[in-house]
Amino acid sequence: MSTNYSGAGKLPVNVVIIGGGFGGLETALSLKNLLPSTVRITLVDRGEYHSFIPSIHEVVSGAVRARDIQIPLALILGLAGIEFVCDEVLSLDAKSKKVLASSGVLDYDYVVVSSGAENNFYGVQGAETFSHRFRSPEDAERIHSDLGSLLTDRKRVCSVVIAGGGTEGVEVAGEVLDLIRGRGYGPDLNAGKLTLTLIHGQDNLLPGFPVKAQEFSREYLLRKGVTILTGNRIAEVRQDSVILDSGVRHDMSMLIWTGGIQPSRLIRELPLTKDPNGWLKVTDRLHSPDDESVYGVGDIISIYADDRPLSLTRLAYHAMDQALIASMNINSRLQGRRQVGYSPKDKPQLVSLGREMGIYAYKDRVLSGPWVVLLKKAVQAKHLMTYLTKPGFAPVTSRIPGQEFRHLLRILSPL
Ligand SMILES: Cc1cc2nc3c(=O)[nH]c(=O)nc-3n(C[C@H](O)[C@H](O)[C@H](O)COP(=O)(O)OP(=O)(O)OC[C@H]3O[C@@H](n4cnc5c(N)ncnc54)[C@H](O)[C@@H]3O)c2cc1C
Repeated sequence: MSTNYSGAGKLPVNVVIIGGGFGGLETALSLKNLLPSTVRITLVDRGEYHSFIPSIHEVVSGAVRARDIQIPLALILGLAGIEFVCDEVLSLDAKSKKVLASSGVLDYDYVVVSSGAENNFYGVQGAETFSHRFRSPEDAERIHSDLGSLLTDRKRVCSVVIAGGGTEGVEVAGEVLDLIRGRGYGPDLNAGKLTLTLIHGQDNLLPGFPVKAQEFSREYLLRKGVTILTGNRIAEVRQDSVILDSGVRHDMSMLIWTGGIQPSRLIRELPLTKDPNGWLKVTDRLHSPDDESVYGVGDIISIYADDRPLSLTRLAYHAMDQALIASMNINSRLQGRRQVGYSPKDKPQLVSLGREMGIYAYKDRVLSGPWVVLLKKAVQAKHLMTYLTKPGFAPVTSRIPGQEFRHLLRILSPL
């Protein structure tokens, strides 16, 4: 029998948030700040942790562990007075305003969907079966462990392939290099027995970045011994090789797939309008054009202002800005006030190429140096620290169990 999480004594307004990532957690805490205490706010996530995804590449080299970039949702939300349900959301019934999870049902007056994206294998035969995914700290830990095992046998010929040359592909290449060097391999990469190849469908790495950043990343990785194949798509993946669309076969001991994202089944099956690629269509007020009680933030949305799509890269800082606008608009709806429109703000992007080099890109400005890696760590620390200092949290740190408190202290001092 299913549980009704909302319980018998239903409060006047129930807000349910799906996903505790960048968009969802920020929405929950912003709503808590804005809405009266009588409003019941519930966040549901299938996992126990909020993860700082932009740092998962560091888990690949072993510079940090998965738990070092995660904070427990139950703790953060519990201390802020927000309910947390750890469960997988299966679907949304917009007509009866219910979120259906695997072991219960949540009633809502407003729902904010922020369940993120998943790897896109573009229907490439064998890709899903024979690749290592790279979307979560757990994926990165698996890569670290499997790559470590491969590297223990020096007699073995080993070919590591990275699919995709966007931010994720370039960053993971830098970390794989660090892991290889950390295992004592010299610049000759075990007399050529070990190869690292990055395969990218477009002509330039880091699409969307200024040319200077694209060229810098290419030259840096080439200099460190990475083979870069641009303008090449993977047409098929087999257990021990990848076949390019040119027909060329490339040996592969391990394939790390970073090539693109797509909406999950939950989003594809939502009974609401999507864009041509299956992302949830929202207005610039960030609600569905079909249903003003369904808001969307983060990677899952495609924003249309005056029925024209806004061009927007799917990034954590956009998800957090959208969370604030969606929260303000839910508050305005409840108070009968006008809602505000969202317009994206450009912010600097930081790309690391291993622990010794990084690229800072803001509009046309491109800078590089090891300091970018430190800056990225500082951003991570600030992000996690923010959730410890949100109203209602700071005075109650003494209530954090000892083990968790030590863990939080450790992850807040990554420099
Ligand atoms: C390797 C990598 C590096 C990146 N680097 C950067 C960077 O440097 N800067 C930057 O700005 N952005 C970066 N991004 C992008 C950024 O991580 C995303 O844009 C951001 O995480 C989107 O936030 P979100 O809330 O939409 O989704 P997410 O942060 O992915 O959160 C989604 C949450 O929903 C939960 N969930 C999903 N489905 C369900 C379900 N059915 N039921 C219950 N819960 C569910 C998940 O467990 C997860 O907690 C990077 C992404 C990757 C993969």
